[in-house]
Amino acid sequence: MTPAADSSTYERFERPAKPVTPPLIELKKVRREFPAGDEVVVALKDVSLTIEKGEMVAIVGSSGSGKSTLMNILGCLDRATRGTYRVLGRDTREMAPDDLAALRREHFGFIFQRYHLLPDLTAAGNVETPAIYLGRDPAERKAEAKRLLERLGLKDRAGHTPNQLSGGQQQRVSIARALINGGDVILADEPTGALDTTTGEEVMRILRQLNAEGRTIIIVTHDMKVAEHADRIIELSDGAIIADRRKPGTAEIAADVAPKSVKMRQGAASWRDRFNEAFRMAVRAMRAHKLRTFLTMLGIIIGIAAVVSVVALGEGSRKQVLENISALGTNTIDVRPGSGFGDRRSSAIRTLTVADAEAIAAQSYVDSATPTVTTSVTLRRGNVSASASATANGVGDQYFRVRGMKLESGAFLGAESINNISQEIVIDPNTRSTLFPDGEDPLGQVILVGQMPATVVGVASSTGFGSENLNVYAPYTSVLRRLLGQDYLRSITVRVADNASMDAAQAGITALLKTRHGTEDFYLNNTDEIRQSIEQTTGTLTLLIASIAVISLIVGGIGVMNIMLVSVTERVKEIGVRMAVGARQGDIMQQFLIEAVLVCMIGGALGVSLALSLGFIFPLFGSGFVLDFSVASIVLAFTCSTLIGVAFGFLPARSASKLDPIEALARE
Ligand code: ADP
Ligand code: MG
Repeated sequence: MTPAADSSTYERFERPAKPVTPPLIELKKVRREFPAGDEVVVALKDVSLTIEKGEMVAIVGSSGSGKSTLMNILGCLDRATRGTYRVLGRDTREMAPDDLAALRREHFGFIFQRYHLLPDLTAAGNVETPAIYLGRDPAERKAEAKRLLERLGLKDRAGHTPNQLSGGQQQRVSIARALINGGDVILADEPTGALDTTTGEEVMRILRQLNAEGRTIIIVTHDMKVAEHADRIIELSDGAIIADRRKPGTAEIAADVAPKSVKMRQGAASWRDRFNEAFRMAVRAMRAHKLRTFLTMLGIIIGIAAVVSVVALGEGSRKQVLENISALGTNTIDVRPGSGFGDRRSSAIRTLTVADAEAIAAQSYVDSATPTVTTSVTLRRGNVSASASATANGVGDQYFRVRGMKLESGAFLGAESINNISQEIVIDPNTRSTLFPDGEDPLGQVILVGQMPATVVGVASSTGFGSENLNVYAPYTSVLRRLLGQDYLRSITVRVADNASMDAAQAGITALLKTRHGTEDFYLNNTDEIRQSIEQTTGTLTLLIASIAVISLIVGGIGVMNIMLVSVTERVKEIGVRMAVGARQGDIMQQFLIEAVLVCMIGGALGVSLALSLGFIFPLFGSGFVLDFSVASIVLAFTCSTLIGVAFGFLPARSASKLDPIEALARE
């Protein structure tokens, strides 16, 4: 009766009758060479060997005779340089790494001299590992692990980690691990080598018992006393078999053991189990190195926070500026002297006149044209004078309509005020609060605009645009005559008729003024152009800063890659153990990729929250910055951090999955 056969979850598996059953293990002229500098070390010299099901074989020989090399080839952890190795008739040379892994997890159970348990897992967790890679039902594999530990006398040690167990106990855990997937063939390399005599005897007794149940046991030992437990002793010397003896009375071929079949999880369910396991391993690894994980994350946190808040800042200021512009109305054209914004000679050009404005106003496509002229003045009322200089805007009666201004009280300047060159002004709220601090009604009061006394006829409401300045509006005629003593204008603001096209109006005005001036010493711009140029500059700026932020993200990603490489190097041994118990390359890769992606995703989430809290804190300090977060940019940032995890985690994860199990196991 096999240990598993009494469990109701196991079903018997009927092997179809075959005329000749191939031997379990068949080596033919297997040679294994190792490069050692310029020379080649031949560890195995044309070894031919057949082992049948149910045998208990000891491979003995002095140190360096090639025992471990042979064992590793038998267990498909290593490949022969030459010769063939068949398992149940299948040539292992033709098998891919993942096929060999399947062979290991389905047929072989390894017992190592140094136990090779995973230090972070409990005894039960260690025993379960091969079953996870096999894809067994979680409840079933847990029950099976418990049962095996109980059988090996470790009932109350299931929850202990390896460093809480004695050597003998650890070796028994590793025996349980070898048995969990059935353990048809147990490969034990010096299983008693690290144990005292009594404990070693105990382990050999267990192995004998497992053999009596029908399992094939192959042990490697340098100790003849240990070897004497076996029915067959193969002696190696210098990589060649020098003796192959059988104990008298043992049958050449032991009874055929019927292989068991276990309840397996198929497809998605199995994949999910393995994913969960990889996920748990990744979290465990991150927890084990909290500070390191956090520092790695910091790069991602800062990068993502920078990207998200820069984009939000750009978007916020763009919206603010555009709101202000749209208050100006969309169908106005400004005519100014010079060749464009920032033309320094424009102040010397004196050809733009009131007559030009009148000519433009007479065009059919023009709704109204209002000349404007501005000058800096000091405002005074009685003994109160404004500390900052104010702007006196000389305007026409249409100006307020063109600009879309609203009144708070009083009235705007009318056509008569303009024609009469009257000394009347409209003031803005800033001027009112500066000159009338006690809340008096400014209407009808006289204030001094530069040298010109003027009566306040209206108070405009705040435009929200350039809101810190003081602005007063007087008839352009008064400003030209009484304040400046000039007759040329700073600009003419044209409101295009509702049914006329902007382009046609622009062409018409240009042609008209060109004939009037004989040259093009003026330029036009409309609010739409201003909007476009602002959108363009803020867009360029955001792009520039965002690309700097992206660079910091890439640096963060490289940090992740670096740490993952360290993590892989640190856990080479663990990778080797997992491969020995049957992990596929994909399983190993998944584990490290998940770790990298988790670091980046958590970093991304923290980065987004950091940016959001900045957006919350900024306005509290009354700064002019407005952060406008868009869901799209947050989702993008998050996707970015995940992609960074995948991209920069890929290389280390792949190098982990491509490790050679033997080299990995040998690493200390
Ligand atoms: P045993 O287990 O019998 O002590 P091994 O199988 O470990 O012996 O080694 C057999 C021979 O092969 C030794 O000479 C050893 O130095 C050599 N050898 C084993 N593994 C390697 C390797 N990875 N690289 C180079 N030489 C090796
Ligand atoms: Mg050895």
